[in-house]
Amino acid sequence: MIPVMKPLLGDEEAAAAADAVRSGWVAQGPRVAAFEEAFAARVGARHGVATSSCTTALHLALHLLGVGPGDQVVVPSLSFIATANAVRYCGATPVFADVDPLTGNLTASTVDAVRTPRTRAVLLVHQGGVPADVESIKALGLPVVEDAACAAGSTLHGRPVGTGALLAAWSFHPRKLITTGEGGMLTTDDPSWAQRLKRLREHGMSVSAADRHEARGVVLEQYTETAFNYRMTDIQAAVGLVQLRRLDAIVAQRREFAARYHELLAPLGVRAVTDPAHGTTNYQSFWVELPDDAPDQADVLTTLAQAGVSARRGIMAAHTEPAYAGHRHGPLPVTEHLTNRTVILPLHHELTEDDQHTVVDALAKALVAVAS
Ligand SMILES: *Cc1c(COP(=O)(O)O)cnc(C)c1O
Repeated sequence: MIPVMKPLLGDEEAAAAADAVRSGWVAQGPRVAAFEEAFAARVGARHGVATSSCTTALHLALHLLGVGPGDQVVVPSLSFIATANAVRYCGATPVFADVDPLTGNLTASTVDAVRTPRTRAVLLVHQGGVPADVESIKALGLPVVEDAACAAGSTLHGRPVGTGALLAAWSFHPRKLITTGEGGMLTTDDPSWAQRLKRLREHGMSVSAADRHEARGVVLEQYTETAFNYRMTDIQAAVGLVQLRRLDAIVAQRREFAARYHELLAPLGVRAVTDPAHGTTNYQSFWVELPDDAPDQADVLTTLAQAGVSARRGIMAAHTEPAYAGHRHGPLPVTEHLTNRTVILPLHHELTEDDQHTVVDALAKALVAVAS
């Protein structure tokens, strides 16, 4: 079976994790601080605050902005479900906006169509690594939190996604380009926000456990507000520091493989995800849109599986899941089209040219197969 994704992990990551273990400091400590600094610098932000996941990072970002009961936050339904859930964690209401048919991302006009006087923020996803048009959405005048879970290494107007972000949330789940097993990060340019976020992820403590350990003499901490335990461990950060050094090579290779897919897919009449006008994708997800006359998505996935190709349905749509049954929303025709009529093809570092031919040949068969 050709897997859809595979994390690139080597001996260096294993050695770095072992070093952290041998150091005796395994919870949030110096390696987390080093990873925060290195990651923030890589994505063009002044400050990084590591978290246990992107989901918890999104929750912290909305909590920081004061989002609460009675508030609405505009989100795409076309996203991993954590995007919408983060709004519910704050007791607020996610309001689903439709997306651009080419990129799968929110646009200024789809956000504007659903905003109300209760809209407190926009959660803008760079879906599958494709950069969203951040500037045009910021121009609406609402605070924009970027869900950059998939977008490490993508660019916007020639600069890394994350540069200039009010708040951006990142994921280091193995389904993304670089991984710490589980893990996340918030980046921001605002030093006071970074400081508060560091307290919020650590029980609201006025002095971090690591700083208390470093201090000479007795340091008594205070708990300044009700907060969370959303910390990353130093074992994870040790792995993350090695992964970060691989990021550029991972992106370059994925873009090379994507270019080959584009070439091989051209005769099939499927539309494949590609760079938008305003930036470049890291191809975290390589999806194709099935032609109108092709069989159902499920039949296509079945035919691919029978040929040894592990593909996935398109990006999920939260509003179609039981967790959002009865949740009110306006029409989402593009979201529904993309979730039902796209499939994600395998893309990972061990993919060979032969594998890519196998995938495309299988897809060609699947497109003409009569649903059985
Ligand atoms: C993966 C993903 C998340 C969740 O990331 P975790 O680190 O697994 O919590 C959130 N949003 C998007 C768009 C994602 O792709």
